[in-house]
Amino acid sequence: MKDHKAGFVSIVGKPNVGKSTLMNVLVGEKLSIITSKAQTTRHRIMGIISDEDFQIVYSDTPGILDPQYALHQSMMAFVHGALEDADLILFINDLYEDVPPNDPILKKINQSGIPVLFVFNKIDQAKGTQVHDKITNWKEKLKAVDYVPISALEKQGTDELMKKIIDQLPNHPPYFPKDELTDKPLRFFAAEIVREKIFLNYKKEVPYSTEVLITEFKNEPEIIRIRAEIFVERKSQKGILIGHKGAALKKVGTEARLDLESFFSKKVFLETHVKVADDWRKQQQKLKQFGYRG
Ligand code: GDP
Ligand code: MG
Repeated sequence: MKDHKAGFVSIVGKPNVGKSTLMNVLVGEKLSIITSKAQTTRHRIMGIISDEDFQIVYSDTPGILDPQYALHQSMMAFVHGALEDADLILFINDLYEDVPPNDPILKKINQSGIPVLFVFNKIDQAKGTQVHDKITNWKEKLKAVDYVPISALEKQGTDELMKKIIDQLPNHPPYFPKDELTDKPLRFFAAEIVREKIFLNYKKEVPYSTEVLITEFKNEPEIIRIRAEIFVERKSQKGILIGHKGAALKKVGTEARLDLESFFSKKVFLETHVKVADDWRKQQQKLKQFGYRG
């Protein structure tokens, strides 16, 4: 393993700039959830890609947010953690988002001493000299080893980006067995998929008040049996979630099951239960139980 390269790469950026989409392209599997709504990615998700002579360990961080709630603070802790243990930072921005030059996160990144690749996403929607102009502007704000324009959605520039990432990694033996795709247990992905469907099916307030806990995950030879408990903050939200004669919850369940079946390449039996947990956002104890702290 003399010339083997390996390292931890943190994907950092504002919500919706395309972090999850990019990581999925780079890893080649649907590992983290993608929706058009911000903040769906609350956990650090590790995706690992290995070849004979390299191994890249990605973490897909939550977006950069104001620590408004206890929950948000916990998310910020993930972002900071992601910076600390990284060999390389992929800082992603897109055509639409801007970050002021005095932003504390930029300061933290510039002072971290960790090499940065600046990734400029969504160039498929750019016109004229927009890409050139915006990147020129970014060069003044962020010290990066390279500034790489891409479209994660159309896989433009992503192969070149991959080469640049590998170039930046230190010589190191692999951290994980080469056939291991991710360090998260399968039930984590089950929870993420159910949560994604809730985000897609209800208006703002409900998804942000919801947490999903997988209380049973039985991987049998022919079928995976999953029991998901969906926690909401108030009784009224429980009603919305379930819907008239259970129709809304049934839709979520069906959509989640279909995705789970394609994700696990296996038949899935999914049971969903809605429960009320008063003000879970504010309760550190509950956050702990849901895996945000520990
Ligand atoms: P995250 O919050 O940073 O993880 O962003 P997501 O990966 O969830 O993407 C947010 C939205 O941007 C989704 O609707 C994506 O389909 C879209 N998106 C991501 N990459 C691109 C891209 O290269 N071009 C375009 N046009 N849309 C993109
Ligand atoms: Mg995301």
